Amino acid sequence: MNAENKTDETQAQAEILPEQLSLKSRFKFKCHKGVSCFTECCRGIDIMLTPYDILTMREKLDLDSEKFLAIFTTPHLLEKADLPVVTIKLLDDERRSCPFVQDKEGCMIYEDRPTTCRYYPLGVGSLSYSGEQTDGDKDEFFFMIKEPHCKGFDEEDEWTVGEWREDQGVDLRDEVNEGWLDLMVRKKSLPASMQLSEQAKQMFFTVCYNIDKFKRFVFESSFLTRYNIPEERVAQIKDDDVKLLQFGFEWLKNTFFQTGEEMFNPKDENGDTTAAE
Ligand code: SF4
Ligand code: SF4
Repeated sequence: MNAENKTDETQAQAEILPEQLSLKSRFKFKCHKGVSCFTECCRGIDIMLTPYDILTMREKLDLDSEKFLAIFTTPHLLEKADLPVVTIKLLDDERRSCPFVQDKEGCMIYEDRPTTCRYYPLGVGSLSYSGEQTDGDKDEFFFMIKEPHCKGFDEEDEWTVGEWREDQGVDLRDEVNEGWLDLMVRKKSLPASMQLSEQAKQMFFTVCYNIDKFKRFVFESSFLTRYNIPEERVAQIKDDDVKLLQFGFEWLKNTFFQTGEEMFNPKDENGDTTAAE
């Protein structure tokens, strides 16, 4: 769970430790079915979903992305970046439970649980966009979220932040989502006067969260006739949704920030590169 995503009430109770952590920072923590607080952290929280989370969760639930969004998510505008995000739609019960939690069993989609749930009790932050970054030179940091009800901190298992990330399988997820984060950090770093149009924000939403709609847009509209996308790339994105997602991030980056990607040069003077709907 990202601290930015907590509800007002739980945010007030959660203690965000002020220290910025690195991959080598150490902490003690273990979560298991035997803790008295089991599943407490799956109630009354707003969990932001990444594009890759949606891709895997909709596969697990055998839904297309449009239906998944309609049933399980709530849209929001991320104020600082002025870009849309989605959170899990909580149940209308007393404890505002996550729809995927069961009291005794825990998370019913554990293998495909969202990135934020995997990181917990860590949160991830990014300072700012500071130009093209290379491996090991990312402008990101980690922090600890200590909630009074969480007994996991009383356990003896010790981790570095890097070991925790690997154990929870967030490395791969962060790699896939890198283009999405890059778009948000770049946008956040722009002067407030440089606004995206509503159509551009809708395009961002479609690419990042509604992968099945984006796929139809790419393969069932004039999209591919407008650009110089290499044939092997077209074959890749047709068969692999992760590659399609990453292609979508590249297209958005080129469209929003004019990065000059050769494959997105229009084929003719009338090529329209802005309509994702
Ligand atoms: S130990 Fe913490 S993370 Fe685990 S169930 Fe309890 S509140 Fe949730
Ligand atoms: S998705 Fe799973 S781990 Fe995350 S809050 Fe819901 S039940 Fe808990």
